[in-house]
Parts: sequence; C-alpha cells; structure tokens
Amino acid sequence: MGALHQGHQRLLETAREENDVVVASIFVNPLQFAPSEDLDKYPQTLEKDCQLCDRLGVNAVFAPSPMEMEAEGTPGENVTGVFPPASLISGLCGASRPGHFLGVATIVVKLLNIVQPTRAYFGEKDAQQLAVIRRLVKDLQLPVEIRACPIVRESSGLACSSRNQYLNEGERKQALVLFRSLQRAKKAFAAGERQRKVLLEIVARELTREENIWVEYVELVHPITLEPLEMIKEAGLLAIAARVGATRLIDNIIVRHRRPIIAIDGPAGVGKSTAAKRIARQLGHIYLDTGAMYRALTWLVLDAGISVEDEAAIAELSARTSIQFVQPRDEGLQEVYANEQDVTQIIRSPEVTTHVSAVAKHPAVRHQLVAQQRHWGQKGGLVAEGRDIGTYVFPDAEVKIFLTASVQERARRRLRDLKARGYGLVFQEELEEQIRERDRLDSTRKMAPLRKAADAIEIQTDGLTIEQVIDKILQFCPKTS
Ligand code: C5P
Repeated sequence: MGALHQGHQRLLETAREENDVVVASIFVNPLQFAPSEDLDKYPQTLEKDCQLCDRLGVNAVFAPSPMEMEAEGTPGENVTGVFPPASLISGLCGASRPGHFLGVATIVVKLLNIVQPTRAYFGEKDAQQLAVIRRLVKDLQLPVEIRACPIVRESSGLACSSRNQYLNEGERKQALVLFRSLQRAKKAFAAGERQRKVLLEIVARELTREENIWVEYVELVHPITLEPLEMIKEAGLLAIAARVGATRLIDNIIVRHRRPIIAIDGPAGVGKSTAAKRIARQLGHIYLDTGAMYRALTWLVLDAGISVEDEAAIAELSARTSIQFVQPRDEGLQEVYANEQDVTQIIRSPEVTTHVSAVAKHPAVRHQLVAQQRHWGQKGGLVAEGRDIGTYVFPDAEVKIFLTASVQERARRRLRDLKARGYGLVFQEELEEQIRERDRLDSTRKMAPLRKAADAIEIQTDGLTIEQVIDKILQFCPKTS
C-alpha cells in the first residue's frame, strides 16, 4: 500500500535478487478498509516510493488509480469477490475487521491476474494476510509462487510499518512493548514452555506493564492453518494486535520446535570464531564461519585478478564457486575449501583481510552467500558467526549474541594470533587502522550492515578471557543438543 519503509525495501531487494524482472505494486486498496478505518489519512507518498523503487532496480511500478481497480458494486453482492475460508479469517484481525480479508483477497487476485508474476513477495508481519494469500493461491490453483520475507525491525525492535508514522515520540517508546512481550514468550519457549495458556499469559502480563496500550488480541495459532493451538508441537505463531494511543499496530513471532540457531555477530577480532567453535562443539551443533566464505571468495577474486569493485564479475565468479567446510575437531582453524582447493591458511592472509570488506559489500555477493548460509541453517542446530547473522541471515535465530571490544583490545588479539601463525612484521597501530577501516566498511555498507539486532544480547569482552565470554554466551543457550 505504499509509504515504503525498510520492510518493503527488503521485499523488493529479495525479489530483485531472485528474478530478472521486478514489478512493485503500490495501491491503497479501499476495499480492505472499513468506513470507520483510516483510509483517508493512510500515508500516500507515491513519488518518493517510485524513487526508492528506481534506486532498488525495480523495473516497473504498478500503481493504478482507485477508479481503474474499482468494480462497480460490493464484492459478493453485485460483483464477484474472493472469499477466504472462515477458518482463516474469523480470528485474529478478521474478528475486528470484518470484510478486510475479502477486500485483500479480491484485490490480490486482481493484481496477480494483471501482472502475472512468477513469484509474489509478502512480509511475515501481516501473518494472517500471508496465510490467506497462500491458501487462495492453493485453492484457486493460481500459477504463482508465494514467497514470505521475515519482519524487518527498527534497531529498537519496533516492526517497520507505514502506520508507525502516526506515532509520536512517547508512543514509539510505548509501542516497543509489543516486541518485548513477544521476546519474553520466545525466551520461555526456548526454555521448553509449550502451553498456550502460559505463553499467552507471559505476553499479556508484559503488555499490561506499559501505559496507553489497548490490547485487541494476543493469540497463539498454527502459522499456516491459523487454528488456535493449545500446545505447540512443531511451530506456533504468536500474534498481537494493540492500539498505542489511537494507532492500531500488529506484531508477531513464529516459534519453531527445532534445534536452535545461535547467531554470534560483532566486529573483526572480537573473539567470535573461538567462542562459536567451542560452543558448537559443546552443544553438538554445526559451526558456520560466514566470514570464511567472504574470505574464500575474496581470495579467488584476487587470484583471478578481478577488481574488488567489479560487482558483476565477482558475482559471476561467486556463482561458479563452491565453498565447503570440514567441521573442526579441535581449537585449530576450520578447514575451508573453495572449488575443492584447500584455502584454510591463505584466506587468513593480510592481503585477503585488507580486501574482504570491499568484496563483502556487494549485494550480489551477499545474496548468493546468504542463500547458502540459510540452506545450511534450515534444520537448526547451528552456531553461526559473522556480521549480519542475527539481523539478516537468521532473524528468527533462537539466541542472538553481539560481541564487542575496543579497537585496541581487538588489535592486540589479532597481533597475538598473527604472530602465533608466523606473520612477523605486523604492528599494533597498523592493525588498529585496518580494524577501524573494516568496521567502517562493514557498518556503513548498504546491504545488511554490521549492526546489533534489537533482540541480541550484547557482551563487552574487554578484560574477559575467552572462557568467560563462552560461559556468558552458554547461559543464554538452550540446553538441548
Ligand atoms: O569474521 P572475519 O574477519 O573472517 O570476516 C571477514 C569479513 O567478511 C568481514 O570484515 C566482513 O566484511 C565480511 N563478513 C560479512 N558478513 C558476515 C561475515 C563476514 O560481511 N556475515
């Protein structure tokens, strides 16, 4: 519906990455608003939206006028409407917004018929909408693949929404309780709680702690059928709708019964790999060093004489590259193979280290490597370390840790490490400079920059031994293996 924010941006980027042609549909659909709702004041920023689409490489914007989309009459009365099954729309938002999903389903079918996309992208924030659309595509046998994209959040944890514009400063803070209450339930789930009653109570209790919040519902349902769940067997959707002042907001999380994913992010030289390796071994999980993937590719780029700025050539090389790991058995380096060549040592060379951030900043590269990382993480049971694991690669990770340390401390650790590996002439100041530059590149790049996820636990590691860091992290990890 336009008023594009980072959540929409993620949909467009994902579509851009997976398709040759991308069409963005921008249409504030009158059919899905009740007369009492905010249709008249819903933010409309078409010109700005088109500029963003242009920047993101969208090929066309489909922005019909209401008149072009209007059927002369009321769906179901004197024109055809698309009626989702009652089991999907009687609960959650459907309970207070009768007619809303009829309006959504009808307009989405029209849109799909006009544009005829191969794939259509929807955000998980509107979880009920997503379930309705998946179902109508299945039931009406529409030839389109529905792709769901995770909720994008501001750094505070607030789920991005066009309606956030209505919130004043105080309300923005109050609105954070939605995310906080869901996080509480997620934590209880990770500790083994599966009962509806208990999980809903945890959410409700947290919500009552904030003023100016009017809860419409807190629900636990199956993410696909939307049936209320008494107990979570495989997966559950915990969803909230609440008014903050006069603004109605929704938020949700999906909790899954799977072996956990532990995401460890942080800047260079902060001790991520040692910690992640040991934790993986201790918990019987797979260890994934995503930095090694960017390093392996960087080495291939340098070896082939390709410029680190040549995104197209690097993407082409990356598409032809297979990166494999051998799980480490001890504290040593993890063996890494690029196209079956052992690159374990060479990817740690100062030359690769100097250039890796420039290679890693290219969206085309990240898309390819992230797809591989997600594939490895499908079944859970993974400790992954990097820069964007908790924010981008696995935003639904069960445990998110963000390690930090001062530049001086990190340079000291790197110096020790390089000396131990026989690199002689390296200086503390030089390493500090290099670390600063990598921090800058990693945290200012456009796509998935280095950032602490809103729900990550930050651990300052200056003055801590690696054992102390590991102990701290383990406190947050579920005890299953
Ligand atoms: O962790 P390591 O120092 O091996 O990472 C090397 C580089 O790879 C980082 O400086 C960063 O530019 C890139 N990287 C990334 N995203 C990740 C992991 C690493 O961009 N998830």
